Amino acid sequence: MTEKVYLKDSYAKELRATVTAANGAELEFDRTIFYPTGGGQPCDLGKILINGKEHGVVDVKKSGDNVIHVLEAPAEAKAGDGALLKIDWDRRYGHMRHHTALHILDGILETGRAFDNSAGGSITGGQIYHDRARIDLEIANCTKELVQLLIDTSQRYIDEGHAVTAKMLTKDQALAVPNLARTAPGRELLNKLTEVRVIELEGLDFQLDGGTHVANTREIGRITLKNYENKGSKRKRIEISVG
Ligand SMILES: [Zn+2]
Repeated sequence: MTEKVYLKDSYAKELRATVTAANGAELEFDRTIFYPTGGGQPCDLGKILINGKEHGVVDVKKSGDNVIHVLEAPAEAKAGDGALLKIDWDRRYGHMRHHTALHILDGILETGRAFDNSAGGSITGGQIYHDRARIDLEIANCTKELVQLLIDTSQRYIDEGHAVTAKMLTKDQALAVPNLARTAPGRELLNKLTEVRVIELEGLDFQLDGGTHVANTREIGRITLKNYENKGSKRKRIEISVG
């Protein structure tokens, strides 16, 4: 099993690790800071230094409990070799800021802080990039003005500088939190695991999550609505960017 350091410390930019499996251009380590693609967040890219040679990382994926690092070309490496892992921090930090922003929009919407949400409007999907995020919304009688109100209310929460923390909960603790898992795969996970990771937005939201987040909402900066697409009276697709 690869120790996933990014789950506990999303700010680690460099890490020494030991090769546990080498298969041409695909390497596994005892621990890693490279986030593998999943949960709407793209993988990290970066560099890995082994036996005096630097290799570019072109893909990172999960395989069971292990993380596979795909290099641009096969490396001369074997199990037991030491390595220095370095992630592309600008890309990762962009993912962190957009990922946390997405959770804030979701929390503000779910709690009805921007407008009455007793009809149960929700975010039904999202894709994070380093420079933007795409969000699918289902809100009754949704308009661009309503979306902007959601963003403006989220912006006030961001500007207040709230703490964002990752916590591990036991299954019993997790099941006691209403609406913790908002998606079908999340609910499935909750029933399968003995321990789950949640992201807490201070005073706002608690959500099952395996992604990387900023420590304080102020790091997000300003949310801008870049695109608004009408996919029906209820369904909208928007694009935001932060900075
Ligand atoms: Zn998330």
